[in-house]
Amino acid sequence: MPISENEVNVLVVDDEENIRTAVERIISKLGCRVFKAADGESGLKIMEQEYIGIVFLDLKMPGKDGMDVQKEIREKYRDVLVIIITGYATIEVAIESMKQGAYDFIPKPFEAEQLRMVTKRALEKIYLTRETARLQEERSRTLMDLSTEKSRTQTILEALPNGVLVTNTNVQVVLMNQVARNLLMLEGDKPIGGYLEDYVTDRGLCEFVRNIPQKNLQEGEEIPSYELQWDKDNYYLVKGNPIIGEDGNFLGVAVVFSDISSIKILDNLKSEFVAKVSHELRSPLSTIHEQMAMVVQDMLEDEESDEDKQILSRAKERTRNMITLVEDLLDLSRLESGVAFQDEKSLQVEDLLYSLQQDWIVQAEEKSQDFELVLPEQPLPPVYADSRALESVFNNLVSNAVKYTPEQGRIRVEAWSESSEEVIVKVEDNGFGMDEEAQKRIFERFYRVKDDKTRFIGGTGLGLPIVKGILDDLGGSINLASEPGKGSAFEVRIPAESDSS
Ligand code: ADP
Repeated sequence: MPISENEVNVLVVDDEENIRTAVERIISKLGCRVFKAADGESGLKIMEQEYIGIVFLDLKMPGKDGMDVQKEIREKYRDVLVIIITGYATIEVAIESMKQGAYDFIPKPFEAEQLRMVTKRALEKIYLTRETARLQEERSRTLMDLSTEKSRTQTILEALPNGVLVTNTNVQVVLMNQVARNLLMLEGDKPIGGYLEDYVTDRGLCEFVRNIPQKNLQEGEEIPSYELQWDKDNYYLVKGNPIIGEDGNFLGVAVVFSDISSIKILDNLKSEFVAKVSHELRSPLSTIHEQMAMVVQDMLEDEESDEDKQILSRAKERTRNMITLVEDLLDLSRLESGVAFQDEKSLQVEDLLYSLQQDWIVQAEEKSQDFELVLPEQPLPPVYADSRALESVFNNLVSNAVKYTPEQGRIRVEAWSESSEEVIVKVEDNGFGMDEEAQKRIFERFYRVKDDKTRFIGGTGLGLPIVKGILDDLGGSINLASEPGKGSAFEVRIPAESDSS
């Protein structure tokens, strides 16, 4: 029968009935259930049916010898506490039975208090044993849960289609699934625990993981990512998330690899397609544009055809816009495929700006704008770049300045250097300017501000993304300061040619 935690069943085996009832009366007040037997045999029978904790055993009884009963109890029920009840005459026997493993003894006749004390001591021992057993069971259960949890996590980790790698604060690899091992081309049994560089050959990726901010990402902040090109056909998008403990401490980084090869291949196909179409469109459009220009020129001499002239001029303008779009698309696809602007050499930015100046003056004059180019007296540090790429950067910025500045406005281009490390070029205007939302987005492809002032100005929204792409390739940067209604200033920084380039 199941018993509650604190309930202890007690068996009194004594041939004297008054002793049995006395024991029952006294110790049932201590919260024990008492069973009684007049001899050893019937005592042992009760024990077969009840979960007995303490046995009060008289050694001198008719029938089965008390010592034998004690021996049998010991053999069958190791945890049962046997307390010997004995007359003075048999004290030696009592001592002997203690040697045999009895827990305690109580001489006959006994005082109620004496019996209570002995019982309480035995009860405490039983509670203690039960508590120890309970704790032990709990501990082994926790350990079992832990190991199940661990293997469950491991199984889930292995079932993920993505590569997962976790580093600790020292950037040592502490966890990695098979997908990660496969894509990093590691031998199957390479143990974890080494530094990240022991497993990842791509230096850029190691750098990326080491530079993950050691704090929780802000809401809306994007998880840092890195594109890993393994070979011609294998691309992975790697995302790295800091692991922050409950106390806010940085614990390491969880890195997830997603295979984006198919998306990349599709994207490359798309870029190739755009490049091909743009290429095919460029020459016919240029021919149409040239021929229209010739017709418009002829009409200039003929004063009768004012209306036709306007229509044709608009058509010519539209064709010009299409040519710009096609050229921008071509520039973009060249940049994407990495074949753009590979003719790099040492060049002086001030010479380049000077040679482009004439074109810009003409553009500005068409809108009666004031154009100024300010170059330093001392030569600037040389930069190592493709001149067509830099031309594209400055042409885009200056033609934007002209486009987005009203007539009679002012355009200013200035170049200088603050150290031998880089060259700075600022393209400034006092035109429409941009609000903060536009300033954040103008480097996105096809983004254009559409308001009352800009609505009728032609453009593709590709110029600034191209500028940014070229500068990123060169290791440079671009910054914008702008205020609506006041104007804009784009500041470009280009690293100077280093001795090793
Ligand atoms: P496009 O000029 O072909 O539209 P860009 O990428 O060169 O494309 O520019 C994107 C948008 O940024 C423009 O549509 C314009 O709204 C804004 N912008 C660029 N330069 C300036 C500038 N100097 N002043 C005001 N707005 C500008």
